[in-house]
Amino acid sequence: MADATDSATEATSETTNAVEAPEATFKTKQSQEAEPKRSWGDEVDNAPDEEPSASTASEEKVVSELNVEGLTIEEEEKINTFLDEPEDSNVTAVTSDKTPYTSAKTFEDLNLSPELLKGIYVEMKFQKPSKIQAISLPMILTPPYKNLIAQAHNGSGKTTCFALGMLSRVDPKLKAPQALCICPTRELAIQNLQVVSKMAKYTGISSECAVPEEFPPSKIAVMTQIVIGTPGTIRKWMTIGKLSLRFMNILVFDEADHMLDEDGFRDYSLRIMRDIRKSSAHCQVLLFSATFNDTVRNFVTRIVEDYNKLLVKKEELSLDSVKQYKVYCPDELAKVMVVRDRIFELGEKMGQTIIFVSTKRGASDLHKALVELGYDVSTIQGGLDLGVRDKIVKEFKDGLTQVLISTDVLARGFDQQQVNLVINYDLPKKFGMCSEPDYEVYLHRVGRAGRFGRKGAVFNLLMADETALMEKIEKHFGSHVMEVPSWNNVEDFKVALKTAGLL
Ligand code: ADP
Ligand code: MG
Repeated sequence: MADATDSATEATSETTNAVEAPEATFKTKQSQEAEPKRSWGDEVDNAPDEEPSASTASEEKVVSELNVEGLTIEEEEKINTFLDEPEDSNVTAVTSDKTPYTSAKTFEDLNLSPELLKGIYVEMKFQKPSKIQAISLPMILTPPYKNLIAQAHNGSGKTTCFALGMLSRVDPKLKAPQALCICPTRELAIQNLQVVSKMAKYTGISSECAVPEEFPPSKIAVMTQIVIGTPGTIRKWMTIGKLSLRFMNILVFDEADHMLDEDGFRDYSLRIMRDIRKSSAHCQVLLFSATFNDTVRNFVTRIVEDYNKLLVKKEELSLDSVKQYKVYCPDELAKVMVVRDRIFELGEKMGQTIIFVSTKRGASDLHKALVELGYDVSTIQGGLDLGVRDKIVKEFKDGLTQVLISTDVLARGFDQQQVNLVINYDLPKKFGMCSEPDYEVYLHRVGRAGRFGRKGAVFNLLMADETALMEKIEKHFGSHVMEVPSWNNVEDFKVALKTAGLL
């Protein structure tokens, strides 16, 4: 199995974008210097010292289809007329026994504590559950607290499902870790912690992050009730006896397909799962993601016992509220000009923009080129110091920066409602395969715009050698990506943005 520290998506490109100077000397063919294979989320923790085990495999139980129609939420009043219903397509629910689950029309239907309800209404300002929340929360919160494999669209509110799951399963009087959430990146762990602690404001439940810090962790035992972190640090805390698993009630994997993918964090995840089961046999396991490809799906159903599941067909996964465009660019310089003349000029009037590049080198080259042209842009990638990473994300979340260049470190999970424009400066490719797109990463990048049904647009900037990749992506998702007729015509971009509902 791949070790989590050397598995990759960031730094996957065989060719590295070489943007050397503004206006001038663009290498039309990019530098051939490949970056080393690294973790997708730039995990820098040390590898654990034991071999993982997949001995928990169980046969998939006989399943019965739930009447999903019966679970559809009535649209009494829109939360906000500006928003579309975040998930138009069907989620198929499958349960492993006859436990009756009814969908929750309101948060009150879920028998949450008054303190938690107050957090949802007053702090989060939610009015009613989204579809995935309405369907999954009764499954999570009803005894016998079955395991759950849940797929739902990007931006549909999955965090709330597992946050309420964790907060409901914690005994506030017991000062010990009882809920654990594992995420692929530092940024996502911090973001999820912020959501949980906001929701928990009136409950007295404590939560903390387990992410890499500048200094090694102390050995003082964690008393916090909810721990959210990255797999390497969580493993380390377990190994040094800092994190006790004795009272663990619930284990959550956010971006679960990546956490259990061979090219992701499978080793770490399995070890953590195995250790928790050893000390707490009845720990509920929740797996959430927008994507579960067939390989991961098969694997997951073998390692998780007795589960309910919610699934979406891949053709129905693209977000209808986000319009996808392709822009053919003759060379690298044209790509930079599109970013400079279209994205900065038009994008800044509308909201925030994330520009995805596949490599750290590509990110810093584009950053340098734009700064030299006099544009204010910030860039995040895993090679930066931890403090700098945190600062850049905070500034973007606070709205102090409008345009963020990012490697795939932010491709999954990053939630910023103001982001309505995503630029694929280059298309995501599977590691070591220059002709094979990474479909999951593409879908997750697109999903950074159009959060919770908001409108958004994606521009894929394509040079000749990326055309075939784009075609494969369109075919895979069964969706047609519209073409912007000319890369250097501002009117064409205005039409595209108007069609997307952004101008
Ligand atoms: P996902 O993990 O499914 O991609 P998130 O959990 O990050 O999506 O939620 C996307 C956005 O939707 C967040 O900004 C969140 O605050 C918002 N949201 C979630 N649930 C609700 C709700 N019930 N009502 C209104 N907004 C919600
Ligand atoms: Mg999420």
